[in-house]
Amino acid sequence: MAICVNCEEEYNDKRLALGYSTCLDCGEAEAQGIIAARTHAKLCEMTPYVSGSLTQPDALFEVRPGSIARSKPKEFVVGE
Ligand SMILES: [Zn+2]
Repeated sequence: MAICVNCEEEYNDKRLALGYSTCLDCGEAEAQGIIAARTHAKLCEMTPYVSGSLTQPDALFEVRPGSIARSKPKEFVVGE
């Protein structure tokens, strides 16, 4: 019988022949960790990157609430 490198439990030699150095329980735990890491990476990849006005919400306002007004507020012209 082969010995698990993690918990020192005996496990099937056929598993060692497949290239696994851990018992079925430890291998399962390791696999779950890999799955969780991959899922996390995928979700990070899929999350939209925060940019523009979301990083600087104050930029949405011509004048920040509670601050002194700018010398010349922007005038909006029709057709601009
Ligand atoms: Zn083990």
